Amino acid sequence: MTKKQTGRNVFRIITEVLSLVLVVILLINGKLQIWFGIFAVGALVSVFAGRFYCGWICPMGTLFRPLGWVYKKLGIKRLKTPELFKKNWVRIGIFLLFIGMMVLTKVLKLKVDILPYMIAFSVILTLFFTEDMWHHHLCPFGSILSISSGFSKKGIRIDESVCIACGKCQKVCPSQSIIMLETKKRANKANECLVCYKCQDVCPVNTCNYGKLKG
Ligand code: SF4
Ligand code: SF4
Repeated sequence: MTKKQTGRNVFRIITEVLSLVLVVILLINGKLQIWFGIFAVGALVSVFAGRFYCGWICPMGTLFRPLGWVYKKLGIKRLKTPELFKKNWVRIGIFLLFIGMMVLTKVLKLKVDILPYMIAFSVILTLFFTEDMWHHHLCPFGSILSISSGFSKKGIRIDESVCIACGKCQKVCPSQSIIMLETKKRANKANECLVCYKCQDVCPVNTCNYGKLKG
């Protein structure tokens, strides 16, 4: 890993930890609705620059990271995302359920914050299943950002002409946004990418880079 990559990773970890601390402070003070404002800013940014919200400040992603580290150290393998959860209707259903719950708590004036329950649910799920199940298929925030970031002209791209098809990037990608082409080289679905840069850290030919997307 280059010095630049190490510096970026340190900066990202600081951002993640500060964001998590902010969530806890907002929760303690009963002001968690402010976080939805931060998410709205993240959604706006995603239209132009990709899903930095997911890879840099999302509290769920932040909690998944040490969990993944411990599992890797202990050599524990998690279950792969069941095919059922990869269906679009499941993602849409979860999203509608989330919106329905938000509306219901407002209409009934319930003093319930949904976010901590979502965080707890996502972490419990990730104890058993690989991270992509939440990031790519279930997270309602991720569903919104996968649409908004579809407009972005920038994101992580893989230069097919440089890729040597080693597959290292695909193995570490927490969102499983990297796909294998017929040539065995890899490509990235930018709207499902969390801009976490994990692929860049492991790519032996340095071809997973943030920049202008083709097409
Ligand atoms: S790690 Fe780099 S070289 Fe290997 S498959 Fe991914 S993009 Fe290609
Ligand atoms: S493609 Fe790279 S930057 Fe995007 S989520 Fe996967 S590992 Fe992270």
